[in-house]
Amino acid sequence: MRILLASSEVHPYSKTGGLADMAAALAKFLGRAGHRVGVVTPLYRGVAERFASLQHFDWHLDLPLGAQRVRAEVFTLEPSENVTFYFIKQPPFYDRPCLYNERDLDYPDNPARFIYFAKCVANLARYLPWKPQILHGHDWQAGVVPLLVLHQKTHEGWWDAPRTCHTIHNLAYQGNCPLGDYTLTNLPPTYLHAHGAEFYGRFSLLKTGIAFADVLTTVSPRYAIEITTPRHGCGLDGALRARRQSLVGVLNGVDYDEWNTEHNRYLKHPYSARNLQGKAAEKASLQQELRLPPRPDVPLFAAITRLAHQKGIDLLLGALMEMLASDIQFVLLGTGQPSLEHAFRHLASRYPHKTAIRIAFDQGLSHRIEAGADFFLMPSAFEPCGLNQMYSLRYGTLPIVRTTGGLDDTVVDISEDRKHPTGIKFTEYSARALAKAVRKAIALYECPGLFQRYRRNAMKADFSWQRTAQRYVEIYERGAGV
Ligand code: ADP
Repeated sequence: MRILLASSEVHPYSKTGGLADMAAALAKFLGRAGHRVGVVTPLYRGVAERFASLQHFDWHLDLPLGAQRVRAEVFTLEPSENVTFYFIKQPPFYDRPCLYNERDLDYPDNPARFIYFAKCVANLARYLPWKPQILHGHDWQAGVVPLLVLHQKTHEGWWDAPRTCHTIHNLAYQGNCPLGDYTLTNLPPTYLHAHGAEFYGRFSLLKTGIAFADVLTTVSPRYAIEITTPRHGCGLDGALRARRQSLVGVLNGVDYDEWNTEHNRYLKHPYSARNLQGKAAEKASLQQELRLPPRPDVPLFAAITRLAHQKGIDLLLGALMEMLASDIQFVLLGTGQPSLEHAFRHLASRYPHKTAIRIAFDQGLSHRIEAGADFFLMPSAFEPCGLNQMYSLRYGTLPIVRTTGGLDDTVVDISEDRKHPTGIKFTEYSARALAKAVRKAIALYECPGLFQRYRRNAMKADFSWQRTAQRYVEIYERGAGV
């Protein structure tokens, strides 16, 4: 098939979270399976300097954005088999220190930046000579794409327009803006109503995608069900229930080319389920790197996370206050809400010999933590899919997770399968419940035989992208009526 993806972040060019990993892996594995793949993404600051093989593409965009016209250039890169990236160069919009916000404040012109991005995507989809059959957008940033395609198909002669697929990675981020911003789409107001692009008197970029895409997907089967309920629907559950027949949950995969423990440029001591000596050595080097006492006998807990309410950070802080009285170590790598960053710094000052807090975004350190830790904490309030628990499984670092979304779909508790547990689950959203799960982990750590069995089970769990990419192809084929 011929597939054009549209994502506001793609690893290794740009990343704030799991979307970047997913978009990169989806493109790579679709290409590897023999499909023709394009990926449209903004050219952010520093990308051209880091990737010297970027080529200028003979394509000049000059598109209306409300009352103005905005020009952009396109650069391409072919990083893997059958895959072409199309970077949109529009420096006033994308050449900024961050992707969406600075110091926890959204860029005020985000609607303009991403409505424009959607227009560039639609333009490429329409005129690229290889004629994509499927246009697959991601999250609110590409939310307007399906409507632009639909409108051009029904009113502007694009009779062979591609079918549109839209993926929701996190319903909590909706790209809602004042109704007036709808004029930036240059579309007639006929689409701006309660069953379309309007959301309680505002214009919603994500809801536009939900209302007008041919097919909708989200990133785990459990989240696909959760988001149709008022509890997890973030106000969009009604819109999603209306599209229930077109909504599919597809669990994200893991790109094991990158996230593995045997051939990994960030790790000094390769290891596998059969030979775990390297893991013990990674733990020792991590303790040394983070200036923690070099103790193999103490269980090392870790979290790598955006510091946001969604991730259950209040639970984590509450449980740690209690658990740090025990003989454990804790490592955090994260950035986000300033008050939460401050709370972790405070924790570190209280327990300097037991905690290491790194307020940073650091890809290499994230691999070293996954490898060196014994347990990984993800007490999320909600979690559409979650990638770190799947990375942790492969690294033999047992995940401790709340039973929500993709966390519930990917981790096996001993109460579910006595023979093949891979981690520890808890359900109640409370620090007390998380502390209880941590106590179970400490007890497990004290039973080496059982702990090793968990580890081996975890490392064998397989979430390869080949399977996930195949599932998307089936959805595309259904959507495209092939
Ligand atoms: P979300 O997309 O909600 O943030 P996911 O678990 O789906 O959560 O994906 C998070 C991704 O971002 C993972 O690849 C994780 O390793 C990475 N990540 C998050 N915070 C950091 C950080 N501070 N440094 C490095 N990587 C991080």
